[in-house]
Amino acid sequence: MEMPGNLYVVAAPSGAGKSSLVKALLEVDSHLNVSVSHTTRQPRGQEQHGREYFFIQPDEFKAMIERGEFVEWAAVHGNHYGTSRGVIEGLLTQGKDVLLEIDWQGALQIRKLFPAAVLIFILPPSWEELEQRLRRRGEDQADVIATRLENARTEVAQAQFFDYVIINALFETAVFDLKTVVHSQRLKYAAQRRAKAAVFHSLGI
Ligand code: 5GP
Repeated sequence: MEMPGNLYVVAAPSGAGKSSLVKALLEVDSHLNVSVSHTTRQPRGQEQHGREYFFIQPDEFKAMIERGEFVEWAAVHGNHYGTSRGVIEGLLTQGKDVLLEIDWQGALQIRKLFPAAVLIFILPPSWEELEQRLRRRGEDQADVIATRLENARTEVAQAQFFDYVIINALFETAVFDLKTVVHSQRLKYAAQRRAKAAVFHSLGI
């Protein structure tokens, strides 16, 4: 199937600042579409069904897997998360750019299905800083923070399989880096040829 849109996948250990970076990117880039995932976890704070996630029951999640409705899915921190196949394939075939904010397991599944996907990994500047950020966030209990830190050891080791690594030491610099990666993908020959077909045509190339 022809997929003319660009597909970006952003992964990171929790506390690295992935969601804030993606939010800052979306504020300045109106061409990106973020896919809303399905999850079996409970909503936190102000989260709304259909906005942050589609919050569904485990049996419904299982049925969706069986019907092949996920392009990728994974168990993360004891809950299940999945990306809807229909939504991302629909956007990509219309030539829209899609960004997935998912875990590393999902990112590697996406690469197998969409070899042209751009995989971006966000790293914290140090273990100390990651721990402080998790504590400052104040969203989780001490045992949850401990589990997340432990899981982060495995997670950061996956950075080697990604195309780009952004170290989120200074937030503004990391946002700039993320914008640069997204932009440079759009300047690749094949992407330019699709997006600027009239220019190529008028130049006779
Ligand atoms: P949280 O529960 O904190 O919102 O997310 C936990 C982790 O699951 C984060 O790393 C988040 O990016 C990841 N995640 C969210 N949606 C998906 C998804 O659709 N697929 C996969 N594989 N991971 C996801």
